[in-house]
Amino acid sequence: MTTTERTPTPAMQRYLEVKAQHPNAILLFRMGDFYELFYEDAVSASKAVGLTLTSRDKGSPNPIPMAGFPYHQLDGYLQKLVRAGFRAAICEQMEDPKLAKGPVKRDVTRVVTPGTLTEDSLLDPRESNFLACVFPAKDSCGLAWVEVSTGRFFVSDLRNDAVLDEIARIHPAECLIPDKTTESPVIQALSRMSGLFLSERPPWSFAADQCLRLLLEQFQTRTLSGFDIDEHTPGVTAAGALLDYLRETQRSSLGHITRLEPYRRGTSLLIDEATRRSLELTQTLRNGERAGSLLAVIDETVTPMGARLLGEWLSNPLTDPARINLRLDAVEELTTDSMFCRDLREQLQNAYDMQRLTARVATGRCSPRDLACLARTLALLPKLKAKLSGRAAARLIELETKLDLCPEIRTDIETALVDEPPMLTTDGGLIRDGYHAQLDEWRDLARGGKDWIVRYQASEIERTGIPNLKVGFNKVFGYYLECTAAQAEKVPPEYIRKQTLKNYERFITPALKEYEDKVLRAEGQAVQLEQELFTGLRERVAVQSPRLRDNAEVLAEIDVLAALATLAVSARYCRPEITSDPILDISEGRHPVLDRLKPSGEFVPNDVSIGIPAAQEDGQASAEAIATSGLIQLITGPNMAGKSTYIRQAALLTVMAQIGSFVPAKSARIGIADRIFARVGASDELGKGQSTFMVEMTETARILNAATKQSLVILDEIGRGTSTYDGISLAWSITEYLHDVISCRTLFATHYHELTQLTQSLKQCVNWNVAVREEADDVIFLHKIIPGSAHKSYGIHVAQLAGVPRAVLDRAKVILETLESDHVDESGKTKVPARRTQKKRELQLSLFEEEHPIIDELRQMKVDEMTPIAALQELHRLRERLK
Ligand code: ADP
Repeated sequence: MTTTERTPTPAMQRYLEVKAQHPNAILLFRMGDFYELFYEDAVSASKAVGLTLTSRDKGSPNPIPMAGFPYHQLDGYLQKLVRAGFRAAICEQMEDPKLAKGPVKRDVTRVVTPGTLTEDSLLDPRESNFLACVFPAKDSCGLAWVEVSTGRFFVSDLRNDAVLDEIARIHPAECLIPDKTTESPVIQALSRMSGLFLSERPPWSFAADQCLRLLLEQFQTRTLSGFDIDEHTPGVTAAGALLDYLRETQRSSLGHITRLEPYRRGTSLLIDEATRRSLELTQTLRNGERAGSLLAVIDETVTPMGARLLGEWLSNPLTDPARINLRLDAVEELTTDSMFCRDLREQLQNAYDMQRLTARVATGRCSPRDLACLARTLALLPKLKAKLSGRAAARLIELETKLDLCPEIRTDIETALVDEPPMLTTDGGLIRDGYHAQLDEWRDLARGGKDWIVRYQASEIERTGIPNLKVGFNKVFGYYLECTAAQAEKVPPEYIRKQTLKNYERFITPALKEYEDKVLRAEGQAVQLEQELFTGLRERVAVQSPRLRDNAEVLAEIDVLAALATLAVSARYCRPEITSDPILDISEGRHPVLDRLKPSGEFVPNDVSIGIPAAQEDGQASAEAIATSGLIQLITGPNMAGKSTYIRQAALLTVMAQIGSFVPAKSARIGIADRIFARVGASDELGKGQSTFMVEMTETARILNAATKQSLVILDEIGRGTSTYDGISLAWSITEYLHDVISCRTLFATHYHELTQLTQSLKQCVNWNVAVREEADDVIFLHKIIPGSAHKSYGIHVAQLAGVPRAVLDRAKVILETLESDHVDESGKTKVPARRTQKKRELQLSLFEEEHPIIDELRQMKVDEMTPIAALQELHRLRERLK
C-alpha cells in the first residue's frame, strides 16, 4: 500500500487500522453521507462496479486513489461488489459526528460475503443462499451448512468421495475451507470446482475444542446429543468453524440459529454432481440458470418459502416409499378437490416470506414494516387452519396440527403498530395512538404546538397586513416566518431577520421560538419513546421465533403440495405407483421440460418398460415381454432422433416420483432408485484441461464402481470420444459389466449399430430403436421409441442430403458393408468372443457369498491318497463343471 508523505488525518489513520484487520475485503468507510474507498480497494472496485475513481490530497505528490457513493446506495453497491466476487467490510460511524468529542468513532459492523447475505434486496427470494464449510479429517470429511437468512443449520460427516456430490447438491453461495494449499484431495477437488466461491479460514478456526464450545454457547446447551449429534466428529468442527466465521462477519445477534440438524446421506436419493448437472434439475447445463431447468418448469409455488422448499425437495428426493406416498396422498387429495387447493393458494398468495422475516426479527434487523408483514401473515393462519381441518391425507392432517396460530404475537404487533408502518424508526409514526399514554401525551403536545403555529400564522397575517406571510420549517433554524422581499418592509420591528433569499425574507419571533421549542421537544421525546416501544415489541416477538419458524415451514410445505397438485392438473400428470422392485413401467411418458416448452401436442409420448419380470399371470414367460423389457435397454437410432430425450425422461420421471410429485405420463409404476447416474454429454469440462474422453471415462468408472442393483443408470453415447473401434469395444464391455455384475436398470442410447448384437449374449439386454420414416429423399424422425434394433444408420443418407458426390457415397456403402460383415458370421451372429467375466464372477461371488458346491468337493478330495493321473482327471472334471 502506498502511503502519503504527510501524516494521515485521524480519520485516515483509523482507516488504515481497520483495513489492516480486513485485508481480504473491500473496506467501505463511512464519512458523513458517503461510503468511501481508498487505495487499491478504490482502484479495483471502481473497475468492477463502475465507480468514478478520483483522489484525495490531489495537490500532494502521492495522491490517494479514492472512490465513493452516497450512503443510501449501499445495498445496490453491496450487491454489485458481492456479484463481482468481492467481500465487503462496512465500517460505520459509531457516534453522531455532531456530538462526538474528538475524532468520530468508527468500526466494522459487518462483513458481507456471498454466503452471509440477509437483505431481501440482495437475495433471490426463490432460492436458498447457503454458506458451507468443509473440514477434511483423516478418513472422512466434516461438512456443515447454514442459511443465514433463515437460520437453518445442518451438519454431516461424509466419506471423502461424497463431498463433491453433496456440495453440488447444496449449491452453496460460499464455501469455507482450511488453507487451500493443503494436500487434502477433497480441498484440491473443491478448488477446481467451477463457480464455487471459496473462503480460506485460518487453522485455529478449526480447533475441535473451541468449535464445540462455540456451538454449545450458541445453543445454550451442555451437549449436542439432544440434536442427535455425536460431538467428536469432523462435522462438528466444520459447524463450529462456520459459526466462528458468522460471528466475525455478522457482528450482530445470531439468535435465529437455534438448532443444528444432522443430515444423513443415504436417506435420500443420491445424485452425483455430474448427473445433477446433466439432468438439469435446478439449473441448466448451458448457462447455469434456473430458467429452463426441471425446477423452473414444475415450480407453481406462490410463496418464496415454497419455491425454496421445492428446490430442496428436488435436490433431495426420498427413498422411503412410505414417506413418498404420504406426499403423494396429499397431492392427490389436492388434485381431486380443486376448490380446496385454490383456496389454500389464494391465502398463501398473500403470505410474506415468514422464514426470512423471522430471521430478521431474531437478529434484531427487522423494520417496523417487517413486523407488520409478519402479523399480516399470521392473520392468514386461522383461515388456512380451518381449510385444512378434516382432511383425509395424513400429511395434511399433520400440517394442520402443526400450524400454530400464535394469536398473542399477532395481537401484540397489531395493537402496537399502525396499519402501514414506515421502514425506519428514525422519524416515528409507527406506534398507534392510544397504545401508550405517555406517547399520546407528547404527541398531543406536539400537535397542540403545531395548531398554535397555524393559528399564529393567521393572526400575524391579519396583524401585519401581509397576505402571503407564512410559517415554514427547516432543519437548520427551525420554524420561521417568510414573506416576499417586496412585502419585507411591512414586517413589525420585533421580527428578527434570519435569512435573505433571492425573492424572500425569513424572520423569527420570540413567541414562535417558544412554541418551536415545545413542539420539537415533544416530538423528539415521542420518537424516542416509539423506538423504545418498538425495540420491546421486537424483542418479545424474537423470543417466539422458533414457533414462527416452524409455522413458516408448514406454510412452505402446504405451498409445495398445492403447487404440485396444480401442476398435476394443468399439465395432465398421473400419480405414480411407487414400488421397491427395480422396475420402470411408464406408459405414454413425456419429458417434463420439453412437454411444457413445446407447443401442445407436439411432444411424442413414449413408453418405458424396464425390469418387468417376463413371467405373466399364468406363470408363462411372454415372448413379447422378454423382447421389450430387459434390465438393460439399448436404444439405437440416428442423431437427432430423440434418444437422449427419452433416456433423460426416464431419469427425470423417477426423480419427480421420488419427491412425491405426479409425473407426465398416462400411467407409471416407478421402482425406487437408491442412486441415479447419468453420463450424458461432456462439453463444459474441456476448459479445465481434461479431454472429453477422460471426463467420459472418469464418470463411467464412477458408475461402474458405485452403482447397485437398485440404481438407475442412463448412458448417452459412451465411447464417442475415442476411435470407433475403441469406442465400440468399451461400450460393449461396459454394457456386459452392467449386465453381469451390477444388474441395474440401464438405458443406453447409442448410434453404434454394432451394439445391438449384444442382445445375442446378454439375457437381460433388449434393443429398442427410434422410429424413422423415409419419404423419397427425406428422413423423418418420428421420435417414437419402439422395440427392436435400428435397421440402419442414416449417416450415408444424411451425407447424400448434404450434397456429397455420388462416387463418395457409393464407395462409403461398400466400405460399410465390409465393416459390418466383418464382425458377424454368415448366420448373422457376432464374432465377438463370448465373455468369461460373468462365469468368473459367478465363481468369485459364490466363493465369497454362498459357498459353491465345488469347494466342498475340493475339501473332500483326499489328494494325498490319489495318483497324479487321478488327481489330474479330477481337476479336469471339476473344470468341466465350471463351464
Ligand atoms: P438424439 O439423442 O437422438 O441425438 P435428442 O434427444 O437430442 O436426439 O433430440 C433431438 C431433438 O428432437 C430435440 O431437439 C427434441 O426437441 C426433439 N425431440 C426428442 N424427442 C422428442 C419427442 N418425444 N417428441 C418431440 N420432439 C422430440
